[in-house]
Amino acid sequence: MKVAVVGGGPAGISLGWFLRGTKIDVTVYEGLDDVGKKPCAWGVLKGIENYLDIPKEAIYSEIKGFRIYLDNKLISEVRERERLGYIVDKPLLLRKLGEKIDLRLNSKVVLNKGKLVVNGKEEEADKVIIATGHYSLSKDVTIPALQYITDLNYDPEMVDMYFYSDLLGYGWIFPDPKGAKIGVGGYASVDFIREKLKTITSGRIITQHGARVADYGVFEDRLNGSYIGEALGTVYAVTGEGIRPSIISSRIMADSLLEGKDFSREFKRSKLHWTLQVHAEVIKRAKASNSVKGLERVLLRADPKLVVKFAMGDFGKLDLIKLFGSAIL
Ligand SMILES: Cc1cc2nc3c(=O)[nH]c(=O)nc-3n(C[C@H](O)[C@H](O)[C@H](O)COP(=O)(O)OP(=O)(O)OC[C@H]3O[C@@H](n4cnc5c(N)ncnc54)[C@H](O)[C@@H]3O)c2cc1C
Repeated sequence: MKVAVVGGGPAGISLGWFLRGTKIDVTVYEGLDDVGKKPCAWGVLKGIENYLDIPKEAIYSEIKGFRIYLDNKLISEVRERERLGYIVDKPLLLRKLGEKIDLRLNSKVVLNKGKLVVNGKEEEADKVIIATGHYSLSKDVTIPALQYITDLNYDPEMVDMYFYSDLLGYGWIFPDPKGAKIGVGGYASVDFIREKLKTITSGRIITQHGARVADYGVFEDRLNGSYIGEALGTVYAVTGEGIRPSIISSRIMADSLLEGKDFSREFKRSKLHWTLQVHAEVIKRAKASNSVKGLERVLLRADPKLVVKFAMGDFGKLDLIKLFGSAIL
Protein backbone atom coordinates (compact mmCIF):
# COMPACT_ATOMS: atom_id res chain seq x y z
CA MET A 1 0.00 0.00 0.00
CA LYS A 2 1.26 3.49 -0.87
CA VAL A 3 0.53 6.11 1.79
CA ALA A 4 1.03 9.85 1.31
CA VAL A 5 1.38 11.91 4.48
CA VAL A 6 0.77 15.65 4.14
CA GLY A 7 2.91 17.63 6.60
CA GLY A 8 6.38 17.03 8.00
CA GLY A 9 5.81 17.99 11.64
CA PRO A 10 6.14 15.59 14.59
CA ALA A 11 2.96 13.73 13.54
CA GLY A 12 3.81 13.23 9.86
CA ILE A 13 7.50 12.48 10.31
CA SER A 14 6.92 10.05 13.16
CA LEU A 15 4.25 8.20 11.17
CA GLY A 16 6.78 7.77 8.34
CA TRP A 17 9.36 6.63 10.88
CA PHE A 18 7.02 4.11 12.56
CA LEU A 19 6.19 2.60 9.17
CA ARG A 20 9.72 2.53 7.75
CA GLY A 21 10.78 -0.90 6.50
CA THR A 22 7.23 -2.30 6.66
CA LYS A 23 4.84 -3.43 3.96
CA ILE A 24 3.52 0.13 3.82
CA ASP A 25 5.33 2.49 1.50
CA VAL A 26 5.17 6.02 2.96
CA THR A 27 6.08 9.39 1.48
CA VAL A 28 5.91 12.47 3.71
CA TYR A 29 5.38 15.78 1.89
CA GLU A 30 6.46 18.98 3.65
CA GLY A 31 5.60 22.30 2.06
CA LEU A 32 8.53 24.22 3.54
CA ASP A 33 12.26 23.91 2.76
CA ASP A 34 13.04 22.40 6.17
CA VAL A 35 11.30 20.65 9.05
CA GLY A 36 10.62 22.12 12.50
CA LYS A 37 10.13 25.70 11.30
CA LYS A 38 6.80 26.25 13.05
CA PRO A 39 7.16 28.34 16.23
CA CYS A 40 7.35 25.98 19.21
CA ALA A 41 9.00 25.88 22.65
CA TRP A 42 10.51 22.43 22.07
CA GLY A 43 9.39 20.89 25.39
CA VAL A 44 8.57 17.17 25.21
CA LEU A 45 7.31 15.33 28.25
CA LYS A 46 8.40 11.93 29.49
CA GLY A 47 6.76 8.90 27.99
CA ILE A 48 8.03 9.86 24.56
CA GLU A 49 10.82 7.27 25.01
CA ASN A 50 8.17 4.54 24.75
CA TYR A 51 7.62 5.62 21.16
CA LEU A 52 10.88 7.06 19.81
CA ASP A 53 14.56 6.99 20.66
CA ILE A 54 15.50 10.64 20.77
CA PRO A 55 19.03 11.00 19.35
CA LYS A 56 21.38 12.35 22.05
CA GLU A 57 22.46 15.27 19.89
CA ALA A 58 18.82 16.43 19.66
CA ILE A 59 18.44 16.70 23.46
CA TYR A 60 19.31 20.11 24.83
CA SER A 61 18.42 19.31 28.45
CA GLU A 62 16.38 17.05 30.69
CA ILE A 63 13.49 18.63 32.56
CA LYS A 64 13.54 17.79 36.26
CA GLY A 65 11.10 20.33 37.62
CA PHE A 66 8.15 22.64 37.07
CA ARG A 67 7.26 25.97 38.61
CA ILE A 68 3.64 27.06 38.38
CA TYR A 69 2.66 30.71 38.59
CA LEU A 70 -0.74 32.31 38.98
CA ASP A 71 -0.90 35.99 37.98
CA ASN A 72 2.91 35.97 37.93
CA LYS A 73 3.13 34.79 41.56
CA LEU A 74 4.88 31.49 42.21
CA ILE A 75 2.30 29.12 43.70
CA SER A 76 4.05 25.79 43.48
CA GLU A 77 7.29 24.16 42.57
CA VAL A 78 8.01 20.51 41.90
CA ARG A 79 11.56 19.25 41.52
CA GLU A 80 12.18 15.57 41.01
CA ARG A 81 15.27 13.40 40.88
CA GLU A 82 14.07 11.65 37.78
CA ARG A 83 13.46 13.20 34.41
CA LEU A 84 10.02 14.68 33.69
CA GLY A 85 10.75 15.42 30.06
CA TYR A 86 13.16 17.02 27.66
CA ILE A 87 13.93 20.21 25.87
CA VAL A 88 14.77 18.99 22.39
CA ASP A 89 16.20 20.62 19.32
CA LYS A 90 12.98 19.97 17.42
CA PRO A 91 14.25 20.72 13.89
CA LEU A 92 17.28 18.47 14.49
CA LEU A 93 15.11 15.70 15.93
CA LEU A 94 12.75 15.85 12.94
CA ARG A 95 15.67 16.00 10.47
CA LYS A 96 17.30 12.94 12.09
CA LEU A 97 14.04 10.94 11.89
CA GLY A 98 13.48 12.33 8.39
CA GLU A 99 16.81 10.90 7.19
CA LYS A 100 15.38 7.40 7.60
CA ILE A 101 12.21 7.97 5.58
CA ASP A 102 11.06 9.23 2.20
CA LEU A 103 10.63 12.89 3.15
CA ARG A 104 10.09 15.40 0.37
CA LEU A 105 10.71 19.02 1.32
CA ASN A 106 9.42 22.00 -0.72
CA SER A 107 6.40 19.86 -1.55
CA LYS A 108 3.18 21.76 -1.10
CA VAL A 109 0.14 19.51 -1.26
CA VAL A 110 -3.35 20.39 -2.39
CA LEU A 111 -6.15 17.86 -2.35
CA ASN A 112 -8.29 18.19 -5.44
CA LYS A 113 -11.49 16.08 -5.18
CA GLY A 114 -9.55 13.64 -3.00
CA LYS A 115 -6.64 13.48 -5.48
CA LEU A 116 -3.15 14.24 -4.25
CA VAL A 117 -1.58 17.20 -6.06
CA VAL A 118 2.02 18.02 -5.12
CA ASN A 119 3.42 21.32 -6.41
CA GLY A 120 0.72 21.30 -9.08
CA LYS A 121 1.40 17.72 -10.23
CA GLU A 122 -0.93 14.81 -9.53
CA GLU A 123 0.69 11.94 -7.59
CA GLU A 124 -0.56 8.41 -6.94
CA ALA A 125 -1.41 7.20 -3.42
CA ASP A 126 -3.74 4.53 -2.06
CA LYS A 127 -4.29 6.55 1.09
CA VAL A 128 -3.68 10.17 2.08
CA ILE A 129 -3.15 11.10 5.72
CA ILE A 130 -3.38 14.74 6.75
CA ALA A 131 -0.80 15.88 9.31
CA THR A 132 -0.87 19.60 8.57
CA GLY A 133 -1.16 20.73 12.19
CA HIS A 134 -3.05 23.92 13.01
CA TYR A 135 -2.78 25.11 9.39
CA SER A 136 -5.99 23.27 8.51
CA LEU A 137 -7.92 24.56 11.53
CA SER A 138 -10.19 27.57 11.87
CA LYS A 139 -9.75 30.40 14.36
CA ASP A 140 -12.66 29.27 16.53
CA VAL A 141 -10.85 26.05 17.49
CA THR A 142 -7.38 27.52 17.95
CA ILE A 143 -5.82 30.25 20.08
CA PRO A 144 -3.03 32.64 19.16
CA ALA A 145 0.36 32.18 20.83
CA LEU A 146 3.32 34.55 20.77
CA GLN A 147 6.84 33.62 21.70
CA TYR A 148 10.14 35.42 22.24
CA ILE A 149 13.48 33.68 21.96
CA THR A 150 15.66 35.51 24.46
CA ASP A 151 19.19 35.37 25.82
CA LEU A 152 17.86 35.05 29.40
CA ASN A 153 20.19 32.73 31.28
CA TYR A 154 17.87 30.00 32.49
CA ASP A 155 18.10 26.80 34.53
CA PRO A 156 18.15 24.11 31.80
CA GLU A 157 16.32 21.64 34.07
CA MET A 158 13.30 23.79 34.95
CA VAL A 159 10.24 24.86 33.03
CA ASP A 160 7.86 27.55 34.20
CA MET A 161 4.13 27.55 33.40
CA TYR A 162 2.02 30.68 33.92
CA PHE A 163 -1.73 30.88 34.38
CA TYR A 164 -3.86 33.98 34.78
CA SER A 165 -7.14 34.93 36.42
CA ASP A 166 -8.01 37.14 33.42
CA LEU A 167 -6.83 34.92 30.56
CA LEU A 168 -8.01 31.49 29.51
CA GLY A 169 -4.62 30.31 28.37
CA TYR A 170 -1.07 29.87 29.55
CA GLY A 171 2.38 31.34 29.51
CA TRP A 172 5.73 29.60 29.63
CA ILE A 173 9.45 30.05 30.11
CA PHE A 174 11.36 27.09 28.72
CA PRO A 175 15.13 26.80 28.63
CA ASP A 176 16.69 27.05 25.19
CA PRO A 177 20.26 26.62 23.93
CA LYS A 178 20.40 30.39 23.32
CA GLY A 179 18.80 31.30 26.68
CA ALA A 180 15.06 30.90 27.13
CA LYS A 181 11.87 30.77 25.11
CA ILE A 182 9.18 32.93 26.67
CA GLY A 183 5.62 32.82 25.40
CA VAL A 184 1.93 33.29 26.07
CA GLY A 185 -1.08 31.82 24.30
CA GLY A 186 -4.73 32.22 25.05
CA TYR A 187 -8.32 32.93 24.26
CA ALA A 188 -7.81 36.67 23.75
CA SER A 189 -6.66 39.24 21.21
CA VAL A 190 -3.06 39.22 20.07
CA ASP A 191 -2.61 42.67 21.68
CA PHE A 192 -3.78 41.36 25.05
CA ILE A 193 -1.44 38.37 24.76
CA ARG A 194 1.47 40.63 23.84
CA GLU A 195 0.81 42.72 26.98
CA LYS A 196 0.77 39.57 29.14
CA LEU A 197 3.97 38.39 27.48
CA LYS A 198 5.71 41.66 28.38
CA THR A 199 5.01 40.98 32.06
CA ILE A 200 7.07 37.78 32.09
CA THR A 201 9.78 38.75 29.63
CA SER A 202 13.35 39.28 30.75
CA GLY A 203 16.63 39.18 28.90
CA ARG A 204 17.23 40.48 25.39
CA ILE A 205 14.73 39.44 22.73
CA ILE A 206 16.60 37.73 19.88
CA THR A 207 13.59 36.68 17.77
CA GLN A 208 9.85 36.85 18.06
CA HIS A 209 7.26 34.78 16.29
CA GLY A 210 3.81 33.32 16.73
CA ALA A 211 1.37 30.67 15.59
CA ARG A 212 -2.03 29.33 16.53
CA VAL A 213 -2.55 26.28 18.74
CA ALA A 214 -5.56 23.95 18.81
CA ASP A 215 -7.52 24.21 22.06
CA TYR A 216 -10.65 22.25 21.17
CA GLY A 217 -9.68 18.66 21.86
CA VAL A 218 -10.13 15.88 19.34
CA PHE A 219 -12.29 16.67 16.30
CA GLU A 220 -14.66 13.73 16.22
CA ASP A 221 -15.56 14.46 12.58
CA ARG A 222 -11.88 13.97 11.68
CA LEU A 223 -11.69 10.61 13.43
CA ASN A 224 -12.06 8.84 10.10
CA GLY A 225 -8.55 7.46 9.61
CA SER A 226 -7.37 10.40 7.49
CA TYR A 227 -6.01 12.73 10.19
CA ILE A 228 -3.26 12.59 12.80
CA GLY A 229 -1.57 15.10 15.11
CA GLU A 230 -2.76 18.61 15.74
CA ALA A 231 -4.92 18.45 12.59
CA LEU A 232 -6.91 15.85 14.55
CA GLY A 233 -6.83 18.00 17.68
CA THR A 234 -4.13 16.16 19.63
CA VAL A 235 -3.07 19.09 21.83
CA TYR A 236 -3.67 19.18 25.58
CA ALA A 237 -5.94 22.21 25.73
CA VAL A 238 -4.98 23.37 29.25
CA THR A 239 -1.22 23.44 28.59
CA GLY A 240 -0.77 23.54 24.79
CA GLU A 241 1.39 20.41 24.74
CA GLY A 242 1.16 18.99 21.22
CA ILE A 243 4.40 17.21 20.24
CA ARG A 244 4.14 14.05 22.33
CA PRO A 245 0.37 13.56 21.82
CA SER A 246 0.80 14.04 18.06
CA ILE A 247 3.50 11.37 18.00
CA ILE A 248 1.30 9.00 20.03
CA SER A 249 -1.55 9.53 17.55
CA SER A 250 0.85 8.51 14.78
CA ARG A 251 1.83 5.36 16.65
CA ILE A 252 -1.85 4.43 16.91
CA MET A 253 -2.26 5.15 13.18
CA ALA A 254 0.84 3.07 12.30
CA ASP A 255 -0.40 0.10 14.35
CA SER A 256 -3.89 0.36 12.86
CA LEU A 257 -2.51 0.38 9.30
CA LEU A 258 -0.15 -2.52 9.97
CA GLU A 259 -2.75 -4.63 11.75
CA GLY A 260 -5.68 -3.72 9.50
CA LYS A 261 -7.58 -2.19 12.43
CA ASP A 262 -9.99 0.72 12.50
CA PHE A 263 -7.99 3.81 13.59
CA SER A 264 -11.04 5.57 14.94
CA ARG A 265 -11.91 2.69 17.28
CA GLU A 266 -8.30 2.22 18.41
CA PHE A 267 -7.84 5.95 19.03
CA LYS A 268 -11.10 6.26 20.99
CA ARG A 269 -9.99 3.37 23.22
CA SER A 270 -6.68 5.04 24.03
CA LYS A 271 -5.80 6.91 27.21
CA LEU A 272 -4.60 9.70 24.93
CA HIS A 273 -8.11 10.30 23.60
CA TRP A 274 -9.70 10.34 27.04
CA THR A 275 -7.10 12.64 28.62
CA LEU A 276 -7.20 15.05 25.66
CA GLN A 277 -10.98 15.24 25.94
CA VAL A 278 -10.81 15.89 29.69
CA HIS A 279 -8.44 18.84 29.10
CA ALA A 280 -10.76 20.09 26.36
CA GLU A 281 -13.77 19.80 28.67
CA VAL A 282 -12.04 21.95 31.31
CA ILE A 283 -11.46 24.64 28.69
CA LYS A 284 -15.00 24.36 27.25
CA ARG A 285 -16.50 24.85 30.72
CA ALA A 286 -14.29 27.84 31.39
CA LYS A 287 -15.29 29.37 28.04
CA ALA A 288 -18.98 28.68 28.70
CA SER A 289 -18.86 30.35 32.11
CA ASN A 290 -16.48 33.04 30.85
CA SER A 291 -14.35 32.43 33.93
CA VAL A 292 -11.14 30.70 34.86
CA LYS A 293 -12.13 30.48 38.52
CA GLY A 294 -12.38 26.66 38.43
CA LEU A 295 -8.82 26.28 37.18
CA GLU A 296 -7.60 28.95 39.58
CA ARG A 297 -9.11 27.07 42.55
CA VAL A 298 -7.39 23.87 41.45
CA LEU A 299 -4.03 25.58 41.07
CA LEU A 300 -4.27 27.20 44.49
CA ARG A 301 -5.55 24.23 46.50
CA ALA A 302 -4.44 21.00 44.90
CA ASP A 303 -1.33 18.98 45.59
CA PRO A 304 1.27 20.38 43.11
CA LYS A 305 2.31 16.86 42.12
CA LEU A 306 -1.27 16.11 41.14
CA VAL A 307 -1.44 19.35 39.14
CA VAL A 308 1.71 18.28 37.27
CA LYS A 309 0.19 14.83 36.61
CA PHE A 310 -2.92 16.49 35.20
CA ALA A 311 -0.84 18.88 33.09
CA MET A 312 1.13 15.93 31.68
CA GLY A 313 -1.99 13.95 30.75
CA ASP A 314 -0.87 11.27 33.18
CA PHE A 315 -4.02 11.05 35.29
CA GLY A 316 -6.82 8.64 36.08
CA LYS A 317 -10.41 9.11 37.27
CA LEU A 318 -9.45 9.25 40.94
CA ASP A 319 -6.93 12.04 40.26
CA LEU A 320 -9.66 13.97 38.46
CA ILE A 321 -12.06 13.62 41.36
CA LYS A 322 -9.37 14.88 43.75
CA LEU A 323 -8.72 17.85 41.49
CA PHE A 324 -12.16 18.88 40.28
CA GLY A 325 -14.69 16.82 42.23
CA SER A 326 -16.98 14.51 40.28
CA ALA A 327 -18.32 17.30 38.04
CA ILE A 328 -15.74 16.83 35.31
CA LEU A 329 -16.26 13.08 34.80
C1 LIG B 1 4.41 29.12 20.12
C2 LIG B 1 4.13 27.65 20.31
C3 LIG B 1 4.88 26.93 21.24
C4 LIG B 1 4.63 25.55 21.39
N1 LIG B 1 5.40 24.87 22.28
C5 LIG B 1 5.21 23.53 22.45
C6 LIG B 1 6.05 22.78 23.31
O1 LIG B 1 7.00 23.28 23.91
N2 LIG B 1 5.80 21.45 23.46
C7 LIG B 1 4.77 20.83 22.81
O2 LIG B 1 4.57 19.63 23.00
N3 LIG B 1 3.96 21.53 21.95
C8 LIG B 1 4.18 22.85 21.74
N4 LIG B 1 3.40 23.54 20.84
C9 LIG B 1 2.42 22.79 20.04
C10 LIG B 1 3.19 21.96 18.98
O3 LIG B 1 4.12 22.76 18.30
C11 LIG B 1 2.24 21.33 17.95
O4 LIG B 1 1.07 20.86 18.57
C12 LIG B 1 2.91 20.18 17.23
O5 LIG B 1 4.02 20.65 16.49
C13 LIG B 1 1.91 19.52 16.28
O6 LIG B 1 2.58 18.60 15.44
P1 LIG B 1 1.95 18.24 14.01
O7 LIG B 1 2.95 17.40 13.33
O8 LIG B 1 0.58 17.74 14.19
O9 LIG B 1 1.81 19.64 13.25
P2 LIG B 1 2.91 20.74 12.87
O10 LIG B 1 4.08 20.68 13.75
O11 LIG B 1 2.16 22.04 12.77
O12 LIG B 1 3.39 20.28 11.43
C14 LIG B 1 2.56 20.43 10.30
C15 LIG B 1 3.46 20.54 9.08
O13 LIG B 1 2.64 20.49 7.91
C16 LIG B 1 3.17 21.37 6.95
N5 LIG B 1 2.09 21.69 6.02
C17 LIG B 1 0.95 22.38 6.27
N6 LIG B 1 0.19 22.41 5.16
C18 LIG B 1 0.86 21.72 4.21
C19 LIG B 1 0.57 21.40 2.84
N7 LIG B 1 -0.56 21.79 2.25
N8 LIG B 1 1.48 20.68 2.14
C20 LIG B 1 2.65 20.25 2.71
N9 LIG B 1 2.97 20.53 4.01
C21 LIG B 1 2.07 21.26 4.74
C22 LIG B 1 3.65 22.56 7.78
O14 LIG B 1 4.61 23.33 7.10
C23 LIG B 1 4.21 21.86 9.02
O15 LIG B 1 5.59 21.61 8.90
C24 LIG B 1 3.61 24.91 20.65
C25 LIG B 1 2.85 25.65 19.71
C26 LIG B 1 3.12 27.00 19.55
C27 LIG B 1 2.32 27.78 18.52
